Amino acid sequence: MTAVDYIFWLIMAGIAAALAVAAVVIVRSRRQAALPKPPTVPELTLGETAEPGEAEPEAAEPPSAASLEVPEAAGSRMARLRRRLSASSNPFARGLLSLLSPDKLDAEAWEDLEATLITADLGVGPTTELIEALRKELAIDGVADPAKAKQVLRTELVKLVDPSLDRTLRTSGEDGRPGVVLVVGVNGTGKTTTIGKLARVLVAEGNTVVLGAADTFRAAAADQLETWGSRVGVPTVRGPEGGDPASVAFDTVTRGVEDGVDVIVIDTAGRLHTKTGLMDELGKIKRVVERKLPVTEVLLVIDATTGQNGLTQARVFGEVVDVTGLVLSKLDGSAKGGIVVQVQRELGVPVKLIGLGEGADDLAPFEPEAFVDALLSEG
Ligand code: GDP
Repeated sequence: MTAVDYIFWLIMAGIAAALAVAAVVIVRSRRQAALPKPPTVPELTLGETAEPGEAEPEAAEPPSAASLEVPEAAGSRMARLRRRLSASSNPFARGLLSLLSPDKLDAEAWEDLEATLITADLGVGPTTELIEALRKELAIDGVADPAKAKQVLRTELVKLVDPSLDRTLRTSGEDGRPGVVLVVGVNGTGKTTTIGKLARVLVAEGNTVVLGAADTFRAAAADQLETWGSRVGVPTVRGPEGGDPASVAFDTVTRGVEDGVDVIVIDTAGRLHTKTGLMDELGKIKRVVERKLPVTEVLLVIDATTGQNGLTQARVFGEVVDVTGLVLSKLDGSAKGGIVVQVQRELGVPVKLIGLGEGADDLAPFEPEAFVDALLSEG
């Protein structure tokens, strides 16, 4: 082989090697493109959670004090909410007031009043009682004076709503242990919203709180609760979607005890599939919680706009769990304010809280006199 041949073959071998390397690179890059992309860790902000199957988030940073909301003070809250019950925005109140105008206190006016009260879900019994009391009072004094009639109506309405009932919310346990509040009710009545609002009230009063998302049937319910809590720096304990609600309740109480919080509030699923199913579910949650701590309050949330239907649901819950307090949600703009009286009588349990809007601070303690005054105010 001459030197020229030698150089020729050397160059050919180099070209062949380069082609082989290029082929390997191309095949590899094609294969890479065909492979599924590796999972990326989603960016999570506080209050959001990874969906099952997504990468677990790093431990979420606790909210800084600056990013937390400050719940509205009790004083301004009450004045604002009272306006929502007044005649200018509440059909029930408007109905009552319109009947007390001077030229209307005749037989027809009494019939109208009766119809208004029944439509407002006061119930036939309480309506008859009220009308009889009013007629008697007004007959004694022989007045057809609307101001006097309004005063008498106020007194009789307050009597019906019953100021003697104990409406204290039991949010503290014995011997400095945490209070445990179970919140029950049919889905859609406003349970989660009520818990969110309640957490704010408790925080505003200086309590430490932990929430439990024991409604494991809807992931959205747990997300919603977590968001409410995170706005005021309150943690939420949750479990896998479809998991055992009682186990989430147990974990919540365990966490509450470990953290030494003042109040533990537990959301439950209100699936009225069968009475036995509901009884089993709520009964188990209560039993499991009580292995650790006594339940201090069982709040039943009732949607004030659902009228008789709400009352029927309340009856079922009253039979399966020992309800200690009622929350009437959506009383804002409801023409059914009379349900307060019926539901208290039916269940023998006082209304303790009322929901007056979708806003974060639209929850108020139920005070019979303030409630009636708000209804009878011109707004
Ligand atoms: P849950 O299924 O029982 O937990 O019910 P949610 O808390 O999800 O509430 C159902 C709907 O009712 C939501 O759209 C809430 O914003 C609304 N809601 C709850 N409470 C009130 C209230 O007091 N007034 C009004 N107007 N809406 C309310």
